[in-house]
Amino acid sequence: IDAIVRADMGPLLEQVGSGKESLSFMRRRIRRLAVQWAVAARRLDERLRSQQRQQKRVLVHVGFLTEESGDVFSPKVLKGGPLGEMVQWADILSALHVLGHDLKISLSVKELHGFLGVPPGRGSCPLRGPFPFDLIYTDYHGLQQMKQHMGLSLKKHKCHIRVIDSFGTEPAYNHEEYATMHGYRTNWGYWNLNCRQYMTMFPHTPDNSFMGFVAEELNHTERLNIQREKVNNMAVIYGKEASMWKGKDKFLTILHRYMDIHGTVYYESQRPPEIPAFVRNHGLLPQHELQQLLRKAKLFVGFGFPYEGPAPLEAIANGCIFLQPKFHPPRSSLNNEFFRGKPMSREVSSQHPYTEQYIGKPHVITVDYNNSEEMEATIKEILKAKVVEPFLPYEYTSEGMLERLNAYIQHQDFCRISSPFPSANESKLWPGNPPNPFVPMPNSTGVVWASNISAPASWPPLSALRLRLSSEGSSCVKTCQNAGLICEPAFFPFINNMEAFNGIDVQCEALEMEMNHLFPAVAIKGRECFLQKEVLLFSCAGISTKHRRLCPCRDFLQGQVALCKDCL
Ligand code: UDP
Repeated sequence: IDAIVRADMGPLLEQVGSGKESLSFMRRRIRRLAVQWAVAARRLDERLRSQQRQQKRVLVHVGFLTEESGDVFSPKVLKGGPLGEMVQWADILSALHVLGHDLKISLSVKELHGFLGVPPGRGSCPLRGPFPFDLIYTDYHGLQQMKQHMGLSLKKHKCHIRVIDSFGTEPAYNHEEYATMHGYRTNWGYWNLNCRQYMTMFPHTPDNSFMGFVAEELNHTERLNIQREKVNNMAVIYGKEASMWKGKDKFLTILHRYMDIHGTVYYESQRPPEIPAFVRNHGLLPQHELQQLLRKAKLFVGFGFPYEGPAPLEAIANGCIFLQPKFHPPRSSLNNEFFRGKPMSREVSSQHPYTEQYIGKPHVITVDYNNSEEMEATIKEILKAKVVEPFLPYEYTSEGMLERLNAYIQHQDFCRISSPFPSANESKLWPGNPPNPFVPMPNSTGVVWASNISAPASWPPLSALRLRLSSEGSSCVKTCQNAGLICEPAFFPFINNMEAFNGIDVQCEALEMEMNHLFPAVAIKGRECFLQKEVLLFSCAGISTKHRRLCPCRDFLQGQVALCKDCL
């Protein structure tokens, strides 16, 4: 059946239900953005007229909101707890609904059982019959619940699962055996998924898919009004929990010399002691009131925490300048409590690296907060600067999110068996140099280089592939970025061969094959080449001081980094 876009959010709101503060928050958001979604869906539909869009059977199981996972979130919704997740789930539901898929929503283990057809009262039980969904969107909590209740059949059906994972999961941490052997085990588990099944909030690492969320879009009149209504010396502080303001007195005192400072910090009856008296605290605001405040403010100030949330994008979309601290050295799971134990090695260079990297000046200013002189000079510059135009990257508009999600739904297929070595006729990549899948193996361990193994899906299309060799100590994420491209893990199987090395003028003196998330790569000394033996370990992330990595890069659309020019 073809998917037909929907403009009416009514049925979705009914499905979401009510009774908890978290659900009310999502309902309010869905309702508030309903028109924006409908307009975006219509536009996308017109553009994709010529393409067939299959309607999929989709289950959304929001694990962290189930009572069974403790639901620690719902009680915090009105108290400034993390709202980013709620924003994202509301947007995922909206997008799936307007794209016209057959959507079921589960917010408890009982509902999950019902939808999957697990008989009540049974613990772990294999599912009978065909799997009832094409796609299941869940989170790490939900994944654990599905494992408990589906038992072994989870393994069989896991290719249908997509895990919403804010900060991302890298291949070395995801592969059970490898993580265990090399010290990459974390509490998040090692689920042996294809890492593109993890979907992140920002395009953190290309090893994962970028799901994202949306920010409110402005029409022409609103943009004009904003220009008029901006208050030049008004700053809003990013941080809705008092703890985020701890130790910032000196900074605030300097800022206060130049600007009126507003906050939206949750409080019970008294003003939290962390907040100086000269700050005008509005308390935690409903989303639409926060938007109004941001429309007036010239400056939105990050204190370093929370990391990588939605609010800075909303501020920039409302014409604020976002001022944020640079982290030197960058923070990561190696040196920072918050990131410790997260299944990734990503280095976070500022409070919000996405805005730093993809938006930048004049909307985003990233500076060293320890240097008060630089700080003060920056604030003076901001005061003098013209009002900046509201800006929202296309990928965070509703149309952008629909375009991306639709492309994933129609093209990403992890249920096909894949091999690290596609068959000869399916990897016709190196013209004039027929690929030879029968490369001699160093120590025959029973791996067959058969030409009848089915090829991994070639979406994005191979026409987008640009091969690069990393310098030593550089990841493929960085290598591609430096070339104005992005690393595309889906292409790794096609460059995991001798011909690819030859293609960039590396003459291998020997060839080996190993399970190693840095491979394919060539040793810096001795020109020995290494191929990857395990398809789940192909990784854009990861650096080696002993190797130069072979990197599959691709182009991307301006403002839609998840998609290449030929991807649509
Ligand atoms: N937010 C809000 N009222 C406020 C402050 C923030 O509704 O007073 C919303 C804001 O619009 C954003 C969401 O909270 O969409 C998440 O904000 P943040 O960037 O702080 O990320 P989090 O750490 O909550 O995930």
